[in-house]
Amino acid sequence: MEPPFHWPGKVLAVCAHPDDESFGLGAVISTLITGGASIDLVCFTRGEASTLRTDDGDLTETRHRELELAATELGIGAVHRFGYADGGLTAVGLDSLAAAIQPLAALNGLLLVFDEGGITGHPDHIRATAAAMVVADELDLPVLAWTIDRRVADTLNAEFDASFVGRNTDEIHVRLPVERGRQRAAMRCHGSQLSGNPVPERRIALTGDTESLRFLRAGPAR
Ligand SMILES: [Zn+2]
Repeated sequence: MEPPFHWPGKVLAVCAHPDDESFGLGAVISTLITGGASIDLVCFTRGEASTLRTDDGDLTETRHRELELAATELGIGAVHRFGYADGGLTAVGLDSLAAAIQPLAALNGLLLVFDEGGITGHPDHIRATAAAMVVADELDLPVLAWTIDRRVADTLNAEFDASFVGRNTDEIHVRLPVERGRQRAAMRCHGSQLSGNPVPERRIALTGDTESLRFLRAGPAR
């Protein structure tokens, strides 16, 4: 496959919750890795506030384990977990969040994030991307955002009474053909979040085999 854009070498994916890397970025991550990129992951929270749960154990420990397995399935290198409160990222100073990941970002040539609307509209998603943008400005790094088409967002919102934020065609910069085998394997690792939750599979069905990406920030002039 011909790369549709300058193929990144070292990438840092910046997410808010365990499962964002799989349910959200999974197909993009595995496709970039297949294309030769190496990808590390930042996860700002431990996901302890999830209301989707299937066991009575310690959800933090469960989700820790799920993230480890999912990252392996996707081919992610290092997983950098932070312990900020799930659901509470907007209460943390943007500079603090940015400072936490700055040394990691400095080792990479591209930051991969959720689109600025947070895709699902979750405030933690929006905050994680805002922190990545602060770091990108400091380090002059390009930021590539995974997004969804407005058509997909509108359908999901109608079907699930949700708050997905989509983009118009002219706001999408890259259409990346993806292979979803590894994403699906990674999604299955997040058992506590997947059972009884039809939204991720529905989103994939509506999206098809091409993920949409936007550059939130261009890289340094080459
Ligand atoms: Zn999330």
